Amino acid sequence: TSDQPYYGAIGPSVVDPRTGEIMDADILFEASMLLGDKNTYRNLVEPRSAIDEVFNVSDKELALMSKGVKTKSFYSEMNAQFDLIHSFLLANGQIEAGDPVPKEFVDQALKWVTMHEVGHTLGLRHNFRSSIDTPLDKLYDEEWGEEKGVFSSAMEYPSINLHPDDKSEDGYYYNPGVGSYDRWVISYGYTPDDEKAKEIARQAAQPGHAYGTDEDARGAGAVDPHVNVFDLGADPLAWGKERAQL
Ligand SMILES: [Zn+2]
Repeated sequence: TSDQPYYGAIGPSVVDPRTGEIMDADILFEASMLLGDKNTYRNLVEPRSAIDEVFNVSDKELALMSKGVKTKSFYSEMNAQFDLIHSFLLANGQIEAGDPVPKEFVDQALKWVTMHEVGHTLGLRHNFRSSIDTPLDKLYDEEWGEEKGVFSSAMEYPSINLHPDDKSEDGYYYNPGVGSYDRWVISYGYTPDDEKAKEIARQAAQPGHAYGTDEDARGAGAVDPHVNVFDLGADPLAWGKERAQL
């Protein structure tokens, strides 16, 4: 660990340049990502940080992200999400002051980040459009989450999925397994059959296959409002209003 970590988690690999075969891969977590950060209150209440998140992204950070490195903003965001659930549960009387974030939440967050890093290892880029594949009224539907994902790709940077009114209505905080986009794109990339690959590629417009990556989401080229980091659901504005009620 480090007092100034530059990543939250990474999935580096060694690939045979002749064949593309993955020879070795690891998933690394920065320990302090899970320990909380006393300064993140500012991230929750300060609109400036949300604006910076989208518009003031350096080329260096974009280049790192496109290689799958979790940058400092991801690390800060995960801390903010841990703080958010902590405050939310405190405010609802579900935990006492000084209690840790529930294990169930930490387990789901770790599982999602691990799937995300394995996705990078297998060659996937970020998918920041995948949140729009889930209608708002399906966000808390566990069956939907298991089959298609709370967001359709583990390669998303999601927000934590909390029901605005009723804790008992909560579904999964993060994706419990791979999403519909992940299954589709892996079936394309890993089929040895060229004809089959063409057929799979033609399913790009089907529901559950939405895709938009780093350059579409952040920095100067980010013009499509559906490609966002840290949002959820098919209607980001309506979701934002709900989130403001938390
Ligand atoms: Zn990533």
